[in-house]
Amino acid sequence: LGKALNNALRKLARSSTVDEATIKEVVRDIQRALIQSDVNVRLVLDLTKRIEKRTLEEKPPAGVSKKEHIIKIVYEELTRFLGTEAKPIEIKEKPTVLLTVGIQGSGKTTSIAKLARYFQKRGYKVGLVCSDTWRPGAYYQLKQLVEPLGIEVFGDPDEKDAIKLAKEGVEYFKEKGADIIIVDSAGRHKEEKSLIEEMKQISNAIKPHEVILVIDGTIGQQAYNQALAFKEATPIGSIIVTKLDGSAKGGGALSAVAATGALIKFIGVGERIDDLEPFDPKRFVSRLLGLGDIQGLLEKFEELQKQQEFSEEDMEKFLKGKFNLKDMYAQLEAMQKMGPLKQILQMIPGMGYSLPEEAVRVGEEKLKKFKVIMDSMTEEELEHPEIINYSRIKRIARGSGTSTQDVRELLNQYKQMKKMFKSMDKRKLSKIARKF
Ligand code: GDP
Ligand code: MG
Repeated sequence: LGKALNNALRKLARSSTVDEATIKEVVRDIQRALIQSDVNVRLVLDLTKRIEKRTLEEKPPAGVSKKEHIIKIVYEELTRFLGTEAKPIEIKEKPTVLLTVGIQGSGKTTSIAKLARYFQKRGYKVGLVCSDTWRPGAYYQLKQLVEPLGIEVFGDPDEKDAIKLAKEGVEYFKEKGADIIIVDSAGRHKEEKSLIEEMKQISNAIKPHEVILVIDGTIGQQAYNQALAFKEATPIGSIIVTKLDGSAKGGGALSAVAATGALIKFIGVGERIDDLEPFDPKRFVSRLLGLGDIQGLLEKFEELQKQQEFSEEDMEKFLKGKFNLKDMYAQLEAMQKMGPLKQILQMIPGMGYSLPEEAVRVGEEKLKKFKVIMDSMTEEELEHPEIINYSRIKRIARGSGTSTQDVRELLNQYKQMKKMFKSMDKRKLSKIARKF
């Protein structure tokens, strides 16, 4: 799918004129690409109609060529088409119990192992329960996947009562003080109705905080019925679409799920334990269209936007002294491209801020490392870096495959920047903020 879409846009980029005929041809290419990857025909027609209408009607903003504008519209519409970005799974209560359902072979057990790893990296203590009494070796499969990571699996290969196993497993990990308990179920049913029935039974027994449906991405648009039945049956559900690596039908499955309004939280992109990604339609489409091509273009649009409106929100944050690790990362990233803060400070007459270069500018390599480290932090740590003590530093370093020294360096950078913002003249800054 990616290749075909990419080709369609390349054709557009190469053409010397952009008239109605060119647009129609590009739209036809997009249609062909989507239908080939098993996207539902009606959905394809709706999507391409929107693309065609917008490209013919909307005028590109100043500084943007007609071609670039069309690519941007294609990107936006495809992103919408693949659904909204789901919030991450919330761990509000301890333990949080997650139930995973899905037909056999969909990738449930593999996804549970991946999820366990995902949460472990973020500092949670995870326990897994195997209540699949149907598949021989189900318990050992799960054990084999996660035991090397030191994650415990509860199960009993000789027990035949799945509900009993699920209940006992949850109790077991509750007593052990786990933060997150994930229950694997059998999913031996081949059709939606009986799958939902099974889900309801286990669900009633263990009262999970969230039910996660695992759908095999290679089934293409057939995913629609499963996702719809599931969405109607549970108000606390989200979806993982697996096997999106190398499947030609991935676009079909994703768009089918999105069409039901169900939320895709993660996608499986390989057989290894780390092959799980939070689903972000924007990132997915960028990749489909060929990241290299679209990235520069999006940045151009972003720059144009930034010039128009320096984020009042950002300024507000600095003024209130609220500045966490996420803000720092965003600022460093922006600064790397000669970003807004520096521009702003330079534009201020008489302000006299000579920004210490080393405080606001880090190399690309280091920024990448910061990102890896931050990926291993919990939400709380990112928001309130003050709580990061030595034992947390050790855990973060281990989770991210860096050293405690690296983590400390990140924290030092943070302290330095925070101090710098604190020392600025708040009244002058707020006067300027109002101007933007
Ligand atoms: P379950 O029956 O639903 O528990 O499915 P399993 O977790 O046992 O997975 C079935 C098969 O799909 C296994 O061979 C997995 O390695 C494979 N699988 C699961 N997720 C992915 C994925 O994202 N990509 C690829 N390529 N294979 C996957
Ligand atoms: Mg399984």
